[in-house]
Amino acid sequence: MRIMFVGPPGAGKGTQAVRVSAAYGIPHVSTGDMLREEIKNGSALGQKAKSYIDKGELVPDDVIIEMVKERIGRADAKNGFLLDGFPRTRTQAEALDEFARLDTVINIYVPDDKLVHRICGRRVCSECGATYHESMLQDVRHCPKCGASLFIRDDDKEEIVKQRLSVYKEKTQPLIEYYSERGILHDIVGSGGIDTITKAILAVINGEK
Ligand code: AMP
Repeated sequence: MRIMFVGPPGAGKGTQAVRVSAAYGIPHVSTGDMLREEIKNGSALGQKAKSYIDKGELVPDDVIIEMVKERIGRADAKNGFLLDGFPRTRTQAEALDEFARLDTVINIYVPDDKLVHRICGRRVCSECGATYHESMLQDVRHCPKCGASLFIRDDDKEEIVKQRLSVYKEKTQPLIEYYSERGILHDIVGSGGIDTITKAILAVINGEK
């Protein structure tokens, strides 16, 4: 099962990817999470990536492609994986074609005005990585799951969010056609209840819709 999620920042890809990858027992490969981990560890790759992420720009293709190639070459991805946030450019999609074939691409669609609201209210757990919207939280400083502190991502500030949306439209949105032409793309409306959206995605992957 080789799945990829595409959709603008704030569409809920990460939240859904955690659930769907768990349902199939496959690794959730999030390039954004991998880069944030590199930044946290202070690696050379992390330092390079940070300069792009902080501006809402994409990290260069060669860096990302190598990172994903290494990740999905590991033993736990032998029976499949769920890609979240990769590929994001045509160059990345063509590189992926060289080392793995996707079975299903899920395009999560959410209108722009909702996206800005969602991202600007996002809180992330510093320990377990869970994400929340501030409106769901009684205490906006602590993770309801593990109690660790919650933070706002530097690139979730409104100006950077607008830049990320424009980069998405220019560089990533064209991939929808790329995969649609192959007949493996499925559209999912990403607004509504989290459980309802998960069910809709699982139904599509299982070929029930
Ligand atoms: P995300 O958590 O997926 O929203 O990613 C956060 C940031 O990491 C993006 O705004 C990019 O700067 C960078 N990033 C993540 N995935 C990629 C990718 N596939 N290609 C280039 N940059 C990426």
